[in-house]
Amino acid sequence: MAFEYAPAPESRSIVDIKPSYGLFVDGEFVDGRGTSFKTINPATEETLAEVAEASEADVDLAVRAARRAFRGWSRMSGKERAKYLFRIARIIQERGRELAVLESIDNGKPIKESRDVDVPVVAAHFFYYAGWADKLEYAGLGPNPQPLGVAGQVIPWNFPLLMLAWKVAPALACGNTVVLKPAETTPLTALLFAEICQQADLPPGVVNIVTGASSTGQALVSHPDIDKVAFTGSTEVGKAIARAVAGTDKKVTLELGGKAANIVFDDAPIDQAVEGIVSGIFFNQGHVCCAGSRLLVQESVADEVMAKLKRRMGTLRVGDPLDKNTDIGAINSREQLDRIRELSEVGESEGAERWSPACDLPTSGFWFPPTVFTGVTQAHRIAREEVFGPVLSVLTFRTPAEAVEKANNTPYGLSAGVWTEKGSRILHMASQLRAGVVWANTFNKFDPASPFGGYKESGYGREGGRQGLAAYLKGAQG
Ligand code: NAD
Repeated sequence: MAFEYAPAPESRSIVDIKPSYGLFVDGEFVDGRGTSFKTINPATEETLAEVAEASEADVDLAVRAARRAFRGWSRMSGKERAKYLFRIARIIQERGRELAVLESIDNGKPIKESRDVDVPVVAAHFFYYAGWADKLEYAGLGPNPQPLGVAGQVIPWNFPLLMLAWKVAPALACGNTVVLKPAETTPLTALLFAEICQQADLPPGVVNIVTGASSTGQALVSHPDIDKVAFTGSTEVGKAIARAVAGTDKKVTLELGGKAANIVFDDAPIDQAVEGIVSGIFFNQGHVCCAGSRLLVQESVADEVMAKLKRRMGTLRVGDPLDKNTDIGAINSREQLDRIRELSEVGESEGAERWSPACDLPTSGFWFPPTVFTGVTQAHRIAREEVFGPVLSVLTFRTPAEAVEKANNTPYGLSAGVWTEKGSRILHMASQLRAGVVWANTFNKFDPASPFGGYKESGYGREGGRQGLAAYLKGAQG
């Protein structure tokens, strides 16, 4: 049972949401030439703002602005570029509360996550890459590192500001200029970031933000005058983008989906493992590419783990994203909610057993309770496909070899978790798992100094760390 808590809402009055937004091109907000679309609060379905949908002509203007700005920005010394990035990082910290509230309103994620994870990691990313800007020749990526030019960057809705930081910070540190397209359901923090660029006196055109949906993204990635495409999103769209840029000399990085195994051995500290299972799949409503969506638990401790997990799930608070006690906020869109519902129904019809704790869901907005499926086999769709919601599939294993085989039996390879008290087993498992990140006795930890990226259908290229610079420099692998 959850304790009764009085509501503890963060005030939304700190953010000033305008009724409508244009595009950010060449350092200014401009009207788009295309139509517009609404962005809504997924917790209430209330319309937040009308946002310009960038047309092909708008994208072209933004790319031209980025190209003009590239001349000055790429010739500026790394030390000077670093000053701008440090300034942006500091403003993000200063305006952190505003950014966190806006992110929670537009995305649906709990304020404690946007305040304590997203925004601090965003600032850390800008600080980290600001530190690299004048040290590129020491990055081990060649003697005279040169930027690529103009980067076209397309990001998803699950971590709107964090994905922006992962794309913009290394690109700028290396001397590139960017045109970024946020996801259509979460454009507002990218537009606030545009204001921060103005506040930091960033030279016009170095960062351009074009809002819109798929057609705007297509116009950007297929624009002939961009040198680099950086995409984070679904594997399906990633494949379409790879086809669109095939035969050009654009450099591409793709960060795609995942179906991570979170593996609990019988010698694991069970209480900590249960916390890791919970944060692995219920953090950010499970809208996490590296979510631990497949729990692999050793048979001898399966009953104990499941009993403790269910008890813990019963204490999760689902509701108002702006309430500081909320653990699970709103599902980002009706479309995503429909997909989670559909796959959960398939899970039941294929024979897995579904369980959720009793919880009252708000009557308006998009909500899904924390859910666990037991009796899942590797053939079930819920064990193979990315649900991208608060839905955990549980499988069991007897031996480490069986755990490795089941963990790797997926088209994806983004992340994995291992819970055991034996250091040797951690190292053995890390060497066997085909996943870009392997967490040991923890899960979903992000640090700007640590590279992140996938194997197989999870994409290619790395973001973060020294390796993340390679994606934005000529001749470097990435
Ligand atoms: P999506 O692929 O539908 O959309 C991502 C972005 O691409 C959006 O901005 C969208 O407007 C744009 N887009 C759509 N079609 C396009 C096209 N043909 N050309 C260019 N741009 C296009 O994904 P989503 O639903 O927004 O995000 C969820 C997916 O993202 C999940 O599969 C998740 O695993 C993945 N993801 C991966 C990572 C990672 O780092 N690997 C991080 C976050 C999310």
